[in-house]
Amino acid sequence: MTKTFNINNIVRESVKTLKPYSSARDEYVSDGSTMIFLDANENPFENGVNRYPDPYQRSLKAVLAEQKGVSESNMLLGNGSDEVLDLIYRAFCEPNQDNIITLPPTYGMYKVLAGINAVENREVLLTSDFEPDVPAILSAVDENTKLIFICSPNNPTGNSFKKEYVEKLLESFSGLVVIDEAYIDFSEQESWLSSLNNYPNLIVTQTLSKAYGLAGIRLGICCASEEIIAILNKIKPPYNVNQLTQQKALQRVLNEDAVQQEVVQILEERANLKQALQELDFVEQLYPSNANFVLAKVDDADKRYQQLLNQHVVVRNRSTQPLCENTLRFTVGTPTENKALIAILKKL
Ligand SMILES: *Cc1c(COP(=O)(O)O)cnc(C)c1O
Repeated sequence: MTKTFNINNIVRESVKTLKPYSSARDEYVSDGSTMIFLDANENPFENGVNRYPDPYQRSLKAVLAEQKGVSESNMLLGNGSDEVLDLIYRAFCEPNQDNIITLPPTYGMYKVLAGINAVENREVLLTSDFEPDVPAILSAVDENTKLIFICSPNNPTGNSFKKEYVEKLLESFSGLVVIDEAYIDFSEQESWLSSLNNYPNLIVTQTLSKAYGLAGIRLGICCASEEIIAILNKIKPPYNVNQLTQQKALQRVLNEDAVQQEVVQILEERANLKQALQELDFVEQLYPSNANFVLAKVDDADKRYQQLLNQHVVVRNRSTQPLCENTLRFTVGTPTENKALIAILKKL
């Protein structure tokens, strides 16, 4: 398969010709002088959030870009990864015409977003060892296939995909490969961010919802070529990341050590949890995890789920997902929560 990648061949016509909304804060860039702002019809009385937020989140993006080793022009921030993923659909997929490929069992939002955007979702199951079936994926591709979603580490299976499989897709597919790295901070595998310059068709998404402990503020990260980021910037809502989120996120990412210490604890607890699960006779298989959760195959997932619920522990029953019959997904909690969970599991 020979590949020619040209961003102009895959962006929607309506997006190509779109003239984006220009907000008051787009035009003016601060030079540090004290100014009187009478340009955006805001209430002038200060309360901390009476002004519109920076549409490009420059302060936050500067820190994130440096920490992640990418340039700011290769980064877009959104209202959670969910918004970022939706923007990708809207920029590149023509409703009722284009299709995308997802690899179940995987994150449910790709399918939901395909539905919302009236884009056909072609599902190519992972192999029995939860790896992408590269030949099957490539044969599902046609001229209307715009996106392939790769979730690595994958939710709900927990594994990272083999590098060579992902590389093969990046090299063979002439649409965009979206690698969702929501769990990358828990993984021993290197982020695909370091390969951005090698692949013009690569999009990497990350989030502050998992390792950074900020699910409540909604902050998603998208990294790709300048061309791709420029297209997404054109269609994003001007003030998509609110002021409180920008402030809280900045505080947190500047405190890298605290984040790292929590990740280390979560990884220790993941090891404890795996050990404990392994010793239970109703656990039939434990899958390797590069994330902050563990997927376990049990004797009867519905029964065990209900028993845990009766003990006031909520886990995720993933049994309805293909290749996941009788599986439960356990998120790693605090040491105290983990101890309580393990005590309860031993008594079931
Ligand atoms: C949790 C999760 C996300 C996070 O989404 P946000 O909208 O950023 O909270 C993204 N992708 C996967 C696979 C996830 O499991």
